[in-house]
Amino acid sequence: MKNLTAIKGVGEFFAEKLRQGGYQSIANIVNVNAKSLCADTGIPLSHAARIIKEAQSLIAKTDSEKYVVGVDMGGTKILAAIITGDGTILSRAKTATKAHKDPTQVIDRIADCINKAIKQAGLSKASIQSVGIGAPGPLDPKDGVIIFAPNLNWYNVPLKKELESRLNIPTFLDNDVNVGTVGEFTHGAGQGANSLVGIFVGTGIGGGIILNGKLFHGTNKTAGEIGHMIVKANGPKCNCGNSGCLEAISSRTAITKKIRKAVLKQGRKSHILELNDGNLDNIRSKTLAKAVASGDKVTIKVIRRTAKYLGIGIASVVNFLNPEMIILGGGVVEALDDEFIKRIRKFAKAYALPNTMDGIEIVTAKLGDDAGVIGASVLARQNLGTTY
Ligand SMILES: [Zn+2]
Repeated sequence: MKNLTAIKGVGEFFAEKLRQGGYQSIANIVNVNAKSLCADTGIPLSHAARIIKEAQSLIAKTDSEKYVVGVDMGGTKILAAIITGDGTILSRAKTATKAHKDPTQVIDRIADCINKAIKQAGLSKASIQSVGIGAPGPLDPKDGVIIFAPNLNWYNVPLKKELESRLNIPTFLDNDVNVGTVGEFTHGAGQGANSLVGIFVGTGIGGGIILNGKLFHGTNKTAGEIGHMIVKANGPKCNCGNSGCLEAISSRTAITKKIRKAVLKQGRKSHILELNDGNLDNIRSKTLAKAVASGDKVTIKVIRRTAKYLGIGIASVVNFLNPEMIILGGGVVEALDDEFIKRIRKFAKAYALPNTMDGIEIVTAKLGDDAGVIGASVLARQNLGTTY
């Protein structure tokens, strides 16, 4: 009996240590503290497993309303994180998507990744309130169905239903860019704003809209498709079938195409080929940044054009919607320097109507890869118990 009370006391001690330590190092915490604590309390060291269990159930009991899982599901990797109400990430798990596999197997992998994150946080499934997922779209957030995801080759996959049946935890789904925008709005560069537009520049270009503090989905849940805003009539062909979309000029895919054409077809001199390990099929964002920093003329010209058209796109957004803030994120923006952002601001101002840009900030995102999981956790929390 004395031992049991003592175990509870030590359990509490470890529960606190686990909270402080980000829940990631149970073994370490026990190794460092167990010996002296067991000696002090008279509990044999062989009881360590029971102590850990006690600590975990204490965490589950006392912190149960606080935890949700945020998931960022991409074509190559799945990230899952346990997140508290204030946006603190307690644990993370990562796994390869293996998009070539059957959707059922990919969904199994998502569920495994979530379970891994829960376990790593030292929590039980019962202590998780809900799961939020940012996934590639178009999708139906209400029913939780991915309508079409080209990079996964998914058509009408009921992801919400499938995950709920595997995890037995309420699950909510939204577009990955919307979720990233929400993350930046609540915990990143957009804190305190009432309306903003998030623009993420990577292999494609996606956008998310916050209006009056809420994510705006639009009638067909497709609002925010800034990548397909036409910024150059008769411009380069876009994957969507149109020509001159922002994505067809300023995405990493478009930048790569333009550089490749300049080097291979027009014979322009550039050392980006060496910087990108001899291939020009997929130029990484970091390589672009290196080429710009080293003065590579071809790359600098293409990047300046990229910034110009992003500026033109933003000018239209500001003319039309007049949000308080534009947040720029994604791999390309993260890799490039201030010069890139300054150029975007310059063109946005030049193309926007007089005074419409006054006081509107164009800033870079703050959360990096975490925007997705944090935004997904916020949506999971907000949607819990509500209907669309
Ligand atoms: Zn397009």
